[in-house]
Amino acid sequence: MIEPNMPMPHKRPKRAYAIIHCPNCDNLQLVHWPVKSHKCPYCDDTFDLIQSRVRPIHVAGSPREVSKILMSLKKGKLADESESRFPK
Ligand SMILES: [Zn+2]
Repeated sequence: MIEPNMPMPHKRPKRAYAIIHCPNCDNLQLVHWPVKSHKCPYCDDTFDLIQSRVRPIHVAGSPREVSKILMSLKKGKLADESESRFPK
C-alpha cells in the first residue's frame, strides 16, 4: 500500500552548535556548526571560519547545552565586573 500523503524524506545533516570567539572583537557567541562564515553580532564583522581558523571552544548537539556553557563562560568573564542582573 502506498500512502498518498507520504512526507518528503528529510535528509537533514546533523546540526550542531558551537561556541566561538570572534577573531576581531573576541566576544563569545553561539553559531551553528559546522559553518563556513559567520557575522559577529558585536562588531558586525563577517569572518571566514575556515580561513581564520577559529576553533570552537565547545561543540554540542543541543542549543540548550551550548547556551548553558556560553552563559557560564560569560559569567566567568563578567565576574570581575560584578554584574549580577537577574532577568525578570
Ligand atoms: Zn566580533
